[in-house]
Amino acid sequence: MRIYTMVDKETCIACGVCGAACPDVFDYDEEGISQSILDNNSGDMLVPTSFIDDVLDAYDACPSESIKVSKQPFHSNPNISEPSK
Ligand code: SF4
Repeated sequence: MRIYTMVDKETCIACGVCGAACPDVFDYDEEGISQSILDNNSGDMLVPTSFIDDVLDAYDACPSESIKVSKQPFHSNPNISEPSK
């Protein structure tokens, strides 16, 4: 499986769930808003295979649907998201 991920920082409510589920991919800015640390939240870097399950766990657990997952690169546009499963 090949996936890309990013966070829609406009809708993230800084709950902290994604960083707990997948700390290798999601971290928080100074306001506690999540972002992907793989590619500065552009959504253009392929998620390493070893992190895919954790990214999908975070995607499922995010209460505001702010974690975006797609089979295509996002180019910093969270609106192209499509669930990949
Ligand atoms: S789980 Fe969702 S709402 Fe919570 S910090 Fe992560 S992206 Fe934001």
